[in-house]
Amino acid sequence: MSGTFLGMPAFPRNAEKALLNSQLRFNLRNATHTIRARRAAVVDELPDWERLRAAGKAIKDDALRNLDRYLVQAEEAVTRAGGHVHWAADAAEAGRLVADLVRATGETEVVKVKSMATQEIGLNEILRDAGIVAAETDLAELIVQLGDDLPSHILVPAIHRNRAEIREIFRERMADWGRPAPPDLTDDPAALAEAARRHLRERFLTAEVGISGANFLIAETGTLVVLESEGNGRMCLTLPRTLISVVGIEKVLPTWRDLEVFLQLLPRSSTGERMNPYTSTWTGAAEGQEFHLILLDNGRTNALADEIGRQALRCIRCSACLNVCPVYERVGGHAYGSVYPGPIGAILTPLLRGTATDLDASLPYASSLCGACYDVCPVAIDIPEVLVHLRAKGPHPPAERLGMKAVGWTLNRPARLRLAQRAASRLRRLVPRRRLPGPGAAWTDTRDVPAVPEESFRAWWRRTEGREGGAR
Ligand code: SF4
Repeated sequence: MSGTFLGMPAFPRNAEKALLNSQLRFNLRNATHTIRARRAAVVDELPDWERLRAAGKAIKDDALRNLDRYLVQAEEAVTRAGGHVHWAADAAEAGRLVADLVRATGETEVVKVKSMATQEIGLNEILRDAGIVAAETDLAELIVQLGDDLPSHILVPAIHRNRAEIREIFRERMADWGRPAPPDLTDDPAALAEAARRHLRERFLTAEVGISGANFLIAETGTLVVLESEGNGRMCLTLPRTLISVVGIEKVLPTWRDLEVFLQLLPRSSTGERMNPYTSTWTGAAEGQEFHLILLDNGRTNALADEIGRQALRCIRCSACLNVCPVYERVGGHAYGSVYPGPIGAILTPLLRGTATDLDASLPYASSLCGACYDVCPVAIDIPEVLVHLRAKGPHPPAERLGMKAVGWTLNRPARLRLAQRAASRLRRLVPRRRLPGPGAAWTDTRDVPAVPEESFRAWWRRTEGREGGAR
């Protein structure tokens, strides 16, 4: 990844820009609806899906409650198996550790397995500044890297690109990174995949250092687990002589047996498959290989301290919430200004980074609160609950605070609500159709003013006793 999310403006401005791009909206709609339908079909096959979901939630909650114990257990197991464990408090420390470990090998090139944790810490940029080239080997990440772009989706980082755009990127940029694309490359998916395969194969065969993340870390055995579709990750894990894994501390599962639940939840929720094609597990150092595990905090203990927000740490990065989100579908991942886009990004990013910047403070508002994300989440993260919680924590303009107080006061007593409804019905003709005056204008700039009905629901009910056709 050669772009950077840092310094991006707040979500509404990014979203406004993205909404003008009809090609982007078309690409996103196509892709998210396809994955969404596939997921729904394979989830429907399982009669015990809700029980699996509850089990996933319970296992993750136990792991988070006893994180200190499980992390020490994992560290001991990895060390016993010949690996080296390092602890990183933040992105800078993790990046420094990786750069030092690569430098110690004397290499200036590394291959990477797709990993959200390394994107989160901006590892490619840190390595670049240290004179080390980090080559992405996941197909979608490769497209993003060659296109000098930013990822737009957790699972499909190049979701915003169509086939014709990918062909152009391959033709123009592949030669800068190694084997060039064939001159007669078409936009046929098989031809694009073949060009990427040949390009990547050369990298795998020469790389001496591999860098990965992990989907899970099993505390009792110290085993790391990666689920993937292409098999490129497995090449990175096994071919290089030195393997460095950067893993968020929340990835811990207590026991090997817990994997059973997540190997069912994750592929179905992410790619809509019953099982992903490649599952790699490794414990400590393999023969002839050196292994380093970097355990990354980077805001996770702060998130854990937040009683409502901590449930975001259950996330297994399946991206199901992105694929059903009406906001994500229209604006895409770049608008969120973080490697974690969509509904999970709207809560996880401010929990990890805080809300000091305009962008981070705006993220809890990047949602219509429709609740679709909660319904599909395989570990039952109540994203709307966390969004509302984070909104309440942030500062609010005096006019909004006053308005909310007045609404609260009115709703608190049925008699007051009745009076307010009667007044609203009488004054309905005075309510502007298009734009509210004063501070209310900010609200109506992007929304229609709802029409005030002639009669309130209660009045209608009293008059008709709910008989059909009684409404006016
Ligand atoms: S919040 Fe839930 S649905 Fe969204 S990526 Fe995480 S686990 Fe998947």
